[in-house]
Amino acid sequence: PGRAAALAQLVRDVPDYPQPGVMFRDITGLLADGPAFADLVGAFAAAQEPGAVDLVVGMEARGFLLGAPLAVALGVGFVPLRKAGKLPAPTERVAYDLEYGTAELEVRTGSIPAGARVVVVDDVLATGGTAAAAVELVERCGAQVVDVQFLLELDALGGRARLAGRPLTSLWAVP
Ligand code: IMP
Repeated sequence: PGRAAALAQLVRDVPDYPQPGVMFRDITGLLADGPAFADLVGAFAAAQEPGAVDLVVGMEARGFLLGAPLAVALGVGFVPLRKAGKLPAPTERVAYDLEYGTAELEVRTGSIPAGARVVVVDDVLATGGTAAAAVELVERCGAQVVDVQFLLELDALGGRARLAGRPLTSLWAVP
């Protein structure tokens, strides 16, 4: 709890961004603080059983920033899930709902081996739509989601329910 609280202090709350009524959590100050960033990656890695993860998967864009160093810490590879249209074919693609409109996530076909034990990583769990789409892509590849890890979980938005049945770890939660 002490460690999470110290990291939480480095996340900046920005009211009315990107639109009125939304409280945006800005993690760039945490990333810019070397010891805090290392502490964060260490806390993510410590949440996984040694030898129980084959691959880390991160969602564009902030899932890359946390997922890639986690993969290095665990000694496994990293696979990016990209927004639609950024990867050369062939890809697998999943569409999901945003608050306004829809979005798509893609993964390079064959980059997640069937049977792989996968940790999915992103910075913030809000409504859970993005994470649910990521889980769907991983499972469509025949891989197993052993954890979905977040820095911050926004409880009020109910994202956890969208991931029912999947293990979920967040470093700290905001009511
Ligand atoms: P969801 O799909 O509603 O759960 O939204 C989660 C996605 O939006 C994640 O990829 C987050 O990076 C991003 N996101 C939502 N709210 C915030 C925030 O307050 N700060 C940073 N990213 C956010």
